Amino acid sequence: MYDVIIIGGGPAGLTSALYLLRADKNVLILEKENIGGQITSSSKVANYPGFGEISGMELMNNLYNQVVNLGGEVVLEEALEIDDDNTVITDCGKYKAKAIILAVGSKNKVLGIEREDEFVGRGISFCVSCDGAFYQGKTVAVVGGGNSAISEALSLADICSKVYIIQKDDNLTCEEVLKEKLKVKDNIEIFYNSEVVSYLGDNDIKGIVVKTIDGEIKLDVEGIFLAIGLVPSTSFIADLLTLDKNNYILSDDTLTDKTGIFVAGDCRSKKYRQLTTAVSDGTVAALNAINYLNN
Ligand SMILES: Cc1cc2nc3c(=O)[nH]c(=O)nc-3n(C[C@H](O)[C@H](O)[C@H](O)COP(=O)(O)OP(=O)(O)OC[C@H]3O[C@@H](n4cnc5c(N)ncnc54)[C@H](O)[C@@H]3O)c2cc1C
Repeated sequence: MYDVIIIGGGPAGLTSALYLLRADKNVLILEKENIGGQITSSSKVANYPGFGEISGMELMNNLYNQVVNLGGEVVLEEALEIDDDNTVITDCGKYKAKAIILAVGSKNKVLGIEREDEFVGRGISFCVSCDGAFYQGKTVAVVGGGNSAISEALSLADICSKVYIIQKDDNLTCEEVLKEKLKVKDNIEIFYNSEVVSYLGDNDIKGIVVKTIDGEIKLDVEGIFLAIGLVPSTSFIADLLTLDKNNYILSDDTLTDKTGIFVAGDCRSKKYRQLTTAVSDGTVAALNAINYLNN
């Protein structure tokens, strides 16, 4: 029996582990893919306090080592179900704990075209506040037509020489106020009824091929921001906890509606999803779990 099982070994889950281990709790971390979570696919992180610039992999390796050195136990298994008595069933076994922290994150929707995995963090990005500065003075594309796509395009237009918006429909679905702002940006060009069909480049993105109503065209971009939505990894707990309309876990300050189950990071229903907000949630969930265990 563990004190706490943490599901998800990203920044939120590892931060929870750090706090729990330092409070002498015994902890199991279950991770289904790679330790460190989404950020390990970013070659440059420039907005994590205390580090000028660091790769996502190095940042997470540091945190992972900190957790393992404190005695954290990590198992590479996928949590498939949580029973009523806090037993977690994985693809390989069963583990029981007094409390559970869900830190399963979310995944950005991708286009599903060839070489996409290879270019994530090497030209393909999902976050202007994280990566926009790397494209100062360069030409980039944004895929999508909703509020987040257009907000990202407007921010990029302030620092990039040219911004293409690639939208699959014949109109934008963002709010009118954003459409008005677009009108005064002369370095933004919108392709409607269009989709990206391939990425070009050897190691880094050097261009994209876009299928428009007039045929295929090549755009010389160095960055492409995909803003077509996020999918939280919460399907396996959908019957156990209350989710919001986009399937993020509802919580009150990391406390879910099930006693003894806490939630941290990108899978939580909230407004901003960043490294700093994930580690903040990880801290709060751990402190709430410690309080629960000690009472
Ligand atoms: C390319 C890229 C660049 C980014 N750059 C920045 C940046 O520069 N600055 C910034 O602040 N943010 C950045 N972000 C966002 C940042 O990475 C996320 O906000 C952060 O990783 C969220 O942490 P998390 O621990 O909540 O979730 P995640 O990082 O998603 O980790 C969740 C972990 O849970 C695991 N998991 C999921 N389901 C299960 C299951 N059933 N069983 C076991 N394990 C499971 C996943 O495999 C994953 O490892 C970037 C994101 C990407 C994709």
